[in-house]
Amino acid sequence: MTTINWLEETNKRKEDLLSTTQAFLRIKSVLDPETAREGAPFGEGIREALDFALGVCEKAGMTIKDVGGYAAHAEFGQGEELIGILSHVDVVPEGDGWSTPPYAAEIVDGRLVARGAIDDKGPTMAAIFAAKIVMELGLPLSKRVRFILGTDEESSWQCVKTYFETEEMPTMGFTPDADFPLIYAEKGLTDLTLRQTVEAFQRLGLSAAENVQAKLVSLQAGLRMNMVPDKGVAILAPIGLDSHAIAEHYRQYLQGNSLTGEAVEKDGFVQLHMEGVSVHGMDPSKGVNAGTELTHFLQSLALDERGAAYVGFADRYLYRQHGGDALGIAHVDEEMGALTVNTGVLEYEVDKDALFRLNIRYPHSISFENWSALLTSHGAEAGFVLEVAEHLTPHRVDPQHPLVTTLQRVYTEQTGEEAGIIAIGGATYGRSLDVGVAFGPLFPGRADSAHQRNEHILVDDLIKATAIYAQAIYELAK
Ligand SMILES: [Zn+2]
Repeated sequence: MTTINWLEETNKRKEDLLSTTQAFLRIKSVLDPETAREGAPFGEGIREALDFALGVCEKAGMTIKDVGGYAAHAEFGQGEELIGILSHVDVVPEGDGWSTPPYAAEIVDGRLVARGAIDDKGPTMAAIFAAKIVMELGLPLSKRVRFILGTDEESSWQCVKTYFETEEMPTMGFTPDADFPLIYAEKGLTDLTLRQTVEAFQRLGLSAAENVQAKLVSLQAGLRMNMVPDKGVAILAPIGLDSHAIAEHYRQYLQGNSLTGEAVEKDGFVQLHMEGVSVHGMDPSKGVNAGTELTHFLQSLALDERGAAYVGFADRYLYRQHGGDALGIAHVDEEMGALTVNTGVLEYEVDKDALFRLNIRYPHSISFENWSALLTSHGAEAGFVLEVAEHLTPHRVDPQHPLVTTLQRVYTEQTGEEAGIIAIGGATYGRSLDVGVAFGPLFPGRADSAHQRNEHILVDDLIKATAIYAQAIYELAK
């Protein structure tokens, strides 16, 4: 058989690929509970985008199936085994400040600009056209290929959860919803709350503090578990120290530690404001946690018993503890990197539950049961109970698996570049598949515009990705 020039085959279909992708991007497929109905659980826009993509697949000769509007699939090929390609048709809201309208899908300076251009409607259409090339060339396949189109990847992943309750799990597959060359491993992700009720604190039976300087009235920092808090504020009621002395002490602390914040004396109370540096919770060491920097200062005052216990716990176990060393849960994996702890939210108020909300990410070589038991027992020392709000187990495909080696080879053949494989701390759609990796569409060195204003994909990259996906589909399913 003569070798196929996948790029040339893609270029023959370039106009059609571009105009179809533009039409797809012009559908505003943002989650819209207002227009949700049976068959369109996430609203009309997403339903319309789903129908559009299915229409392209059906016209190409694929068999389609809708799963209640939560997800749908389009299939071709034959055989026992199933190759899955998982992508999503929903997009995040467009936001402000665009240079061209977010749903105009204009091509400006070689860039296709639109909400969804890179995440994930552009790559979805690239993969569908890739399949069309394989079909139109009449290449023999020994496996089935199935596009699985999700509809709420940007919110709760109800789509894939619902889909896989009734539908077949592919033998292996990829998602064109992250980076090239290939992401084969993702850490386990947890959102956890350590909660101490007033009663649980009282049961500890701690003796009353002596020479109390101030009472901690409230403390609040952070909004989300997966972000490092950039603001924290504590309110103190002076007791043994006057408010002026506390404020002065705080100012000196800020200065001495090169921190930004202020102390405000008001109505007999002192408000302590702390500014941090917010970064994503997957690498908290890159940020400055306004909450734990604040508790570290508070630790230097003699506070009321409960306030002292709260800041004491934060200071002992969470202050600059990005790897969980003090909790005894530190673990570094050669492949997947370190367990990370982000203290995303701190909440304290007199007479209410006191909370720490944590985002802990862990590699596959340490078990959740193992480290969460340690966290539970340290929490119990101060009357905190551990609640698991979210837990996604680590995801990893063996680097020697044919899925990985085949996609690496295809990438290298198409780009001339070495295809290193990547382990990440975040989550891609790839983890929805039992044996799944993320494969493109963002090429190394390109700025990631996903979720930002002026989201775009370079037209050349869209073409190149289509050629890569075409060869990948063929090689995996032949
Ligand atoms: Zn996405």
